[in-house]
Amino acid sequence: MERRRLSQEVKVGEVKIGAGVPIVVQGMTKTDTEDIPATVGQIRELTQAGAQIVRIALPTIRAAKVLYQIKQEVEVPLVADIHFNYRIALEAMEQGVDKVRINPGNMGKRGILSVANRAKDKGIPLRIGVNSGSLEKGFLDDDLLNREVSRIKTQNHRQIMADAMVQSALRTTALLEKEGFRDIVISLKAADVLTTIFAYQTISDKTPYPLHLGVTATGPCPQGIIKSSIGIGALLVQGIGDTIRVSLTGSPLEEIKLGYEILQSLDLFKEKPILISCPTCGRCQVDLESIVQEVQLGIEKVKIPLMIAIMGCEVNGPGEAKQADIGVACTRKGGVLFRKGKIVGKVEEQDIVKVLLEEVEKLSCESGDLSEIRDTNNEIRDDD
Ligand code: SF4
Repeated sequence: MERRRLSQEVKVGEVKIGAGVPIVVQGMTKTDTEDIPATVGQIRELTQAGAQIVRIALPTIRAAKVLYQIKQEVEVPLVADIHFNYRIALEAMEQGVDKVRINPGNMGKRGILSVANRAKDKGIPLRIGVNSGSLEKGFLDDDLLNREVSRIKTQNHRQIMADAMVQSALRTTALLEKEGFRDIVISLKAADVLTTIFAYQTISDKTPYPLHLGVTATGPCPQGIIKSSIGIGALLVQGIGDTIRVSLTGSPLEEIKLGYEILQSLDLFKEKPILISCPTCGRCQVDLESIVQEVQLGIEKVKIPLMIAIMGCEVNGPGEAKQADIGVACTRKGGVLFRKGKIVGKVEEQDIVKVLLEEVEKLSCESGDLSEIRDTNNEIRDDD
């Protein structure tokens, strides 16, 4: 893991991005923004799932005009996503939005400057959101674009597209800086994972601004999960990125969940348990999949950094279970239970879930965080 790239701090409402603070996970509503109850409901669900900032689409002035009402109902900072019409951005700022995303590919210089000047007066940050699907004119020649469209991609084509995205972002930051505006976050999203990675790598040492990571239009699951994980993950490993938003053709709550999974797998988020379990094979004599699913459900609301290992047999079981805080290495008749590297007893197969959750509860008590495991554990006992 490389050292984090140092960026300047940008504040969105009360949430800080950049300057080495923990990576911020963002979400996005998929409701019709003008449907206030549905939009407020989804923002609350996203916040509960862990979204620290929520982006909402404002396709019209009418949609921007309901922003104030939505803001009254939610706590999380909101970002207005604006394309084409800068007046929508001006209205969103009047309505109290916390950040505005503009796309230099579809907003002219005059519009961008109007937005920046109003944002400067109001102390609102802007995200310059460059997207490979709506790249600013003049940064890519048509020949290359045609090759991109026909999907004959080579490393060279990708780098050319990435460079064009970077140039567009840098041109816009220069424009804003000329106006004395520096409250900026940059994103450079392409639907192609490698192009996205090249773009962020290229810009990372050319600008002091925080970088918002994401691969755009990744498609349905599992393709979307894989593309987002590889794109965002590869950049984070290089120390690049200050905030992330996963994009899936699917549930917005899954996007948040996946964002935290990416961070946790790179040790950038430590406030929930990690579950280690083997894939099972012909040696496994217990219903490991069901055990893992029940334990996963039972620890859903636990908020301490525990490592729990559930392994199918004696081949890798004892080694993994020993390295975990709590672990079970299954045998023909049940399992051997480990706590902090030591064997603490044997357990029958039907008791593995209950015993593991009791152990999690004990460790949660020791760490002072009971969370909600007690309730979940009781529900599972009742089911027995
Ligand atoms: S730990 Fe045992 S059961 Fe699990 S995959 Fe490895 S050999 Fe198979």
